[in-house]
Amino acid sequence: RAKQQGRKTHAFYSSEIMASAVERVLIERGLREALIGQQLELYYQPQVDMVSGHIVGMEALLRWHHPERGLVQPDAFIGVAEETGLISEIGRWVIQQGCRQARLWREQGFTLGYLWINVSPRQILHNGLEDAIAQSLKDNQLPSGAIQLGVEITESLLQSMPHSTEVLSKLRALGVRIAIDDFGTGFSSLSLLKQLPIDVIKIDKMFVRHLAFDSDSQAITAAMISMTHTLGMGVVAEGVETIEQLGFLREQRCDVVQGFLLGAPLTVSQATQVLIEHREGWPNQQAKQTEQL
Ligand code: C2E
Ligand code: MG
Ligand code: MG
Ligand code: MG
Repeated sequence: RAKQQGRKTHAFYSSEIMASAVERVLIERGLREALIGQQLELYYQPQVDMVSGHIVGMEALLRWHHPERGLVQPDAFIGVAEETGLISEIGRWVIQQGCRQARLWREQGFTLGYLWINVSPRQILHNGLEDAIAQSLKDNQLPSGAIQLGVEITESLLQSMPHSTEVLSKLRALGVRIAIDDFGTGFSSLSLLKQLPIDVIKIDKMFVRHLAFDSDSQAITAAMISMTHTLGMGVVAEGVETIEQLGFLREQRCDVVQGFLLGAPLTVSQATQVLIEHREGWPNQQAKQTEQL
């Protein structure tokens, strides 16, 4: 029986591996078609300044309109895009499309501070990121401060530190602001704050999630905020879903907040509507509720 089970398990694993291999090939092929067939779309999620209540930035988040599967979220395809190198081409599209939208919003009179663009380490390792960004800024007559790059720290980035540091320094010399995404998780470490040219860190949502009731999350978050400020950097918290979390972050003087409480990732027309509604800053109602805590 054990033997039978063992064989079953073996058969199960290999079919699972086959299935995932096939899935990867399907995603890779699909992504190539997506680039040509305009199946990619950027959603935008507001980032709100804690003091003024103004929307200071929008984070561009990729979505894929798959012809059969419908709307596909990035976690289902960014990994494959990174492994196959397709992320460079996709990333260039994100930069171009994002900058175009930033220009349109400016032309419509919105004082949007910056567009937050996610870049994966593979894009930094490949040549051409600086050129792609410089070109898109120029094409859309945007000041370089109009872009903030969210960089996630991975093993491959650490393995190529001299090169990564050089690329990020060049971008920063252009005036582009550099942010570390998902800070406190994965391969991000405190020593990086000394090595990389960084303007902003984003506290990962795993710390924000338990802020209301977990004293460890509170201590870590408070420490990250004060350390960031001591180093002269800005700090953003992501994944803010409740008034309690917002209240804690406000008390700790977090600069900028982002999350479902303030707005989910939105289509261009929805995001534009939010910009119109919040021209005068965030509704006072929320600020009042926070003060009452
Ligand atoms: P990320 O950069 O850490 O983005 C934050 C994720 O949290 C987004 O998921 C966002 O929709 C989600 N989120 C926002 N507010 C909340 C909240 O209040 N609660 C919770 N639970 N989640 C919230 P999304 O859009 O599925 O993106 C997933 C990841 O895919 C991103 O993580 C980023 O690493 C990657 N990604 C997305 N767009 C791009 C892109 O254009 N280029 C690259 N290289 N990566 C991208
Ligand atoms: Mg991000
Ligand atoms: Mg994150
Ligand atoms: Mg991430």
